[in-house]
Amino acid sequence: MKIAVLGTGTVGRTIAAALAGLGHDVVIGTRDPQATLARTEPDVMGTAPFAQWHQSHGQVDVARFADAAAGADLVVNATNGVGSLAALTAAGAANLAGKVLVDIANPLDFRHGMPPVLNPVNTDSLGEEIQRTFPDIRVVKTLNTMNAALMVEPGRVAGGDHSVFVSGNDSDAKRDVAALLASLGHRDIIDLGDITTARGAEMILPIWLRLWGALGTADFNFKIAR
Ligand code: NAP
Repeated sequence: MKIAVLGTGTVGRTIAAALAGLGHDVVIGTRDPQATLARTEPDVMGTAPFAQWHQSHGQVDVARFADAAAGADLVVNATNGVGSLAALTAAGAANLAGKVLVDIANPLDFRHGMPPVLNPVNTDSLGEEIQRTFPDIRVVKTLNTMNAALMVEPGRVAGGDHSVFVSGNDSDAKRDVAALLASLGHRDIIDLGDITTARGAEMILPIWLRLWGALGTADFNFKIAR
């Protein structure tokens, strides 16, 4: 499958590498490929410059958001939550129309310091904002509740015996995304319902962030015992 991964951070890189490893034709999207490849400093989180990652992942093309989305069968949103609507606008509604969008972004707002706050929250979610703004996209919120390494290698903890959620209005899109998740090794895939259920998935972040602090590692996930 031709997959566009929008986002050059840890999540975009991790997902792009894993999907390419599964044999998909993957392109990674960014605002300005030249500027992204020219960065030489780690970002605020200490993530190595993109070019360094790309040197060892040459099979993943790099393109502007619009060019990446235009040629894709399926699109992944791995952009910063504050910039997701801008990134998808740059990708272009026409380039995204009818496609499944795997939305991994969290609407974390760090402007008031740590811990970040969610915006929107409670009565709305980023997943819903994206679906409202781009009614022709088939948005499926998923994977946002775990760290990037676990997204593509669930077996890193508890033998992979933990849960991942999907939220979206389109049953066929959720089925396709569930198949993709299964190909990455996820076994307990819970369909929460329509895109309004993304509120709950995004509202896991405050407890996720506190667990990260308490446990001193991001290598953990939630298991829904039942
Ligand atoms: P990030 O630093 O949150 O996002 C980087 C990407 O966002 C870059 O591609 C950047 O574009 C784009 N971006 C930032 N501001 C933008 C704007 N104003 N307009 C358009 N694009 C913009 O990277 P990340 O840590 O990989 O996280 C990606 C998403 O996944 C986030 O929403 C995060 O909350 C979520 N998430 C992360 C993890 C994790 O383990 N890190 C886990 C679960 C969910 P350029 O390429 O042009 O710079």
